[in-house]
Amino acid sequence: MKIQLVDLHAQYLTIKEDIDEAIKRTIADTSFIGGDEVRKFEQAFAQYIGVNHCVGCANGTDAIEIMLQAMGIGKGDEVIVPAISWISTSEAVSSVGATPVFVDIDPDTYCIDAKLIEAAINARTKAIIPVHLYGHPANMDSIMDIAGENNLLVLEDCAQAHGAEWNSQRVGSFGHAATFSFYPGKNLGAYGDAGGMVTNNSELAGKARMIANHGQKGKHNHLMEGRNSRLDGLQAAILNVKLSHLDHWTALRISHAGYYQELLKDTPLKLPHAQKETKHVYHLYVARTGNRSKLMDFLKQNGISTGIHYPQALPFLPCYQNLLDSVHDFPEASSAVSEVISLPLFPELTKGQLEHVATSIKNFF
Ligand SMILES: *Cc1c(COP(=O)(O)O)cnc(C)c1O
Repeated sequence: MKIQLVDLHAQYLTIKEDIDEAIKRTIADTSFIGGDEVRKFEQAFAQYIGVNHCVGCANGTDAIEIMLQAMGIGKGDEVIVPAISWISTSEAVSSVGATPVFVDIDPDTYCIDAKLIEAAINARTKAIIPVHLYGHPANMDSIMDIAGENNLLVLEDCAQAHGAEWNSQRVGSFGHAATFSFYPGKNLGAYGDAGGMVTNNSELAGKARMIANHGQKGKHNHLMEGRNSRLDGLQAAILNVKLSHLDHWTALRISHAGYYQELLKDTPLKLPHAQKETKHVYHLYVARTGNRSKLMDFLKQNGISTGIHYPQALPFLPCYQNLLDSVHDFPEASSAVSEVISLPLFPELTKGQLEHVATSIKNFF
């Protein structure tokens, strides 16, 4: 039995007719950039998250960068980010000319440790970017309180957390703005690169829309220099089809995670768990073991692909050596990155496949 970490083809087969039809229709309409599918998706996704505005863009990295720019963040500013994320979170901060300031993670959730944020704030700090890592929401109560007390903006990086909830409210609706990636492997994924920015603030939405489309407000009316970062019609048409399945797919992810929990509870693996305030959407099922490389090899021999998200904490990447100082050592992030292992988790996994993964893990230990 071969089990991939993610199987996008299996998902395509479940919605093939609708996807093929949507692609054909969009090509027939030649709605390649902009058009009805893009407008429809922006409205539907804003409503799904529970905010007033969604602005589509080319990818989730651009989304963070454009929203930071719309917030007026740039040279001389500092932005607080977690020590573990995909590089986009900190890369976007640097791209607008600001400096990312890393804060260690909470070892139970792998998200930014809210208790450590205040020590990282100074007069240059302008914003916090919490990342709902692996699909588990960051502590939005504490983060919004700290931001309020210190007059900071909050931009939620929701790239891994479509539909996740904190206290029964969807992530992406807490901060001043939030960004999503629709990279193919994400919980809601296009068939190419795609991204989106959401906010209740119409001024931020308007600015972001302008920046993403060459600074135009209406055709040829360039109020500023912007860039080209648009959501294309084909990707929007695909996302419109897929959005209607997202809640079902999320329910399957949660159910699979629950089955892993049951099957693996007596192994030495430290399993992920959802804090009581949260709905964890398991973009990734990340367990921990001191025996990682041997376990990964063993599972590979049994036809099971696993992953590491991520092999290094952001502050220790070669590109950030200029930012490191002796005071900050990020003990929790450092220890997590040497032990985390992502097991196969996607909606189309069968009971038999989940059992094969669990049995192989038990055989290893
Ligand atoms: C995937 C991801 C992004 C970036 O999205 P792209 O669409 O690949 O540019 C940003 N942040 C996090 C946490 C991600 O996982």
